[in-house]
Amino acid sequence: MNVADVRAGGTRRAAGAVVDAVVVGAGPNGLAAAICLARAGRSVTVLEGATTVGGGLRSAELTLPGFIHDHCSAVHPFGRISPFFRSVELAPHGLAWATPPIAIGHPLDDGSAVVVRGDVAATADGLGERDADAYRRILGPIVQDWDRLMPDLLGPLPLPRRPRQAVRLARFGWYAIPPASWLVRRFAGRRARALVAGAACHSQLALSEAVSAAAALIMLATAHVDGWPLPVGGAGRLAEALAAEFTRLGGTIETGRPVTRFDELPEHRVALFDVDPQQLLGIAGARLSAGYRRALRRFRPGPGTFKLDLALDGPIPWRASELGQAGTVHLGGTFEEIAFAEAETAAGRVPDRPFVLLAQPSLLDRTRVPGSGETVWAYSHVPNGSTADVTEPILRQVERFAPGFRDRILATTVTTPADLEAYDPNFRGGDIAGGRMDLWQLFTRPSLRVLDPYTTSDPRILICSASTPPGGGIHGMSGMLAARSAMRRLLKQ
Ligand SMILES: Cc1cc2nc3c(=O)[nH]c(=O)nc-3n(C[C@H](O)[C@H](O)[C@H](O)COP(=O)(O)OP(=O)(O)OC[C@H]3O[C@@H](n4cnc5c(N)ncnc54)[C@H](O)[C@@H]3O)c2cc1C
Repeated sequence: MNVADVRAGGTRRAAGAVVDAVVVGAGPNGLAAAICLARAGRSVTVLEGATTVGGGLRSAELTLPGFIHDHCSAVHPFGRISPFFRSVELAPHGLAWATPPIAIGHPLDDGSAVVVRGDVAATADGLGERDADAYRRILGPIVQDWDRLMPDLLGPLPLPRRPRQAVRLARFGWYAIPPASWLVRRFAGRRARALVAGAACHSQLALSEAVSAAAALIMLATAHVDGWPLPVGGAGRLAEALAAEFTRLGGTIETGRPVTRFDELPEHRVALFDVDPQQLLGIAGARLSAGYRRALRRFRPGPGTFKLDLALDGPIPWRASELGQAGTVHLGGTFEEIAFAEAETAAGRVPDRPFVLLAQPSLLDRTRVPGSGETVWAYSHVPNGSTADVTEPILRQVERFAPGFRDRILATTVTTPADLEAYDPNFRGGDIAGGRMDLWQLFTRPSLRVLDPYTTSDPRILICSASTPPGGGIHGMSGMLAARSAMRRLLKQ
């Protein structure tokens, strides 16, 4: 056991003393919850099962010495702009960001690429005359209203009190609630349709499913608003900065402390769990009502993820040269091809030509590689718990748009769904988003407590992981909102 720190300048917590809050799990949401509670003057202890903090936000030399790869999250659409991240100052802890000139690139078989850069107009211009207007008309108002929309989009079911906000949300919902396959009907050309398909895949749903369009719009809007930045030095730097901020506020982190039973927790007033519903059942099931336990058991996982980390001896030789400026590249070709691949995954099959989400962090951040090397992070969706080897299909998709790419590979590390679950028990069956993000589970994560989904049937037990709204991703919002809920509980005690 390794005690990271105690209240700065304060008194060390006496053995056996009651802490206001114990947080199980030092993922981005656990750390966000811990920071919010510590900021409110509460004593907080975080217990992390792994030997380092971060959960889905860690980096390491996964291939060759000197090549720093991100185990899980690489690109951070909300890393600077979510209400939680806007509320914390992490630069004093050494955190710096690299913003790619092109947030998203999407190559096509004719050797060209659709790219999202800067403002909406610049991107619309690259979509062809027919679709530029539609793109401006749909994305323009979302980007313009982003600061007002975001707090409602990154939380439980929005219940706007002001008519103007209701109108904004209704307008967003008009485009976002239907499937991506409906959203693309507003575009005539291949380029815009492909761009929407790639962005919609972040929903991890079939593109014929409701709210897959929401992911497309949110991903494109964040790309315009903040450009999908990457932490300099690796995603793990963001987790380290969060941990440093928490300990600065006086909190304590104990790593190497996997929790399997509730009675392993130190004395506390409230406990917040940065874990998935199955683990919550295992740890605290005996304290939860039969109805709540049933809800946790019924909670459905999302698809699995099959990931490759590659060390290259030089940049990917994209046919579309502008992709050399893109932080993230969506591979899969046209809307129809991508929709087919994601439908196959949703149906429990492994597609021959999968959709591939690829990031090339070292193009922007040379601290991650030695010499002229490059790191590549790439994954595809597979059925939950799949044991299929998707290495070749992923490599073929890259080679398709970058002939000669394979010759640049120095080393490859494969991470299967089972490896992901072994790495972090929250990633059950390789599900990286804390549960399926369909229309129902977006707002009933992990149970029907839609107004305060962070509470459970026991007033002293809360859940703060990605299995609560707004779901997967590095935004810290589940943690922040769970901490607010915990504060209400603490004030009542
Ligand atoms: C391959 C992959 C790629 C991804 N890419 C991106 C991306 O590019 N951008 C993005 O925004 N998001 C991405 N994500 C998703 C993102 O990483 C997760 O949604 C996010 O980490 C969830 O945060 P969390 O705090 O809820 O849970 P986690 O990150 O899972 O953290 C939970 C923490 O709790 C610990 N823990 C779990 N159980 C216990 C226990 N019983 N006792 C003690 N400790 C415990 C774990 O070790 C872990 O440290 C990716 C995820 C993966 C796996």
